[in-house]
Amino acid sequence: MSRILLMFLVIAVGLLAAWRLLRTAPSATGNTTPPEYDRYFRPQARARKRERKQPEPPYNARSIVRRAALGELRDALSGAPLDPDAELFRCAECKSFYAVQSVCALAMDNAARCINCGSIHRISVEVVD
Ligand SMILES: [Zn+2]
Repeated sequence: MSRILLMFLVIAVGLLAAWRLLRTAPSATGNTTPPEYDRYFRPQARARKRERKQPEPPYNARSIVRRAALGELRDALSGAPLDPDAELFRCAECKSFYAVQSVCALAMDNAARCINCGSIHRISVEVVD
């Protein structure tokens, strides 16, 4: 009776070992991650959005703005009202307005990047009545 019990035990242990070997062996489908790997949450880096690269505006690009509309707008950096008679610039991407002093300040302190969107492209503003 004890021989049968011992034989049954050996067969059971052998089957268990074979089952474990099959579970941990990489499958033929190319899935090489061990099954234990899936049990735990592992945060992964999200795929970064590719930064939109806007084409550089043409050298003679202008933004035409009515004088009356400028009265309601302000400089994006300083918040000061815009002077229609002074030289004005506009971000080519987000269309923020800048006075010359603000463009100089951005060039000195912000690598010439727009305070709102980070673009380096600016176009001049032409004020019409
Ligand atoms: Zn901008």
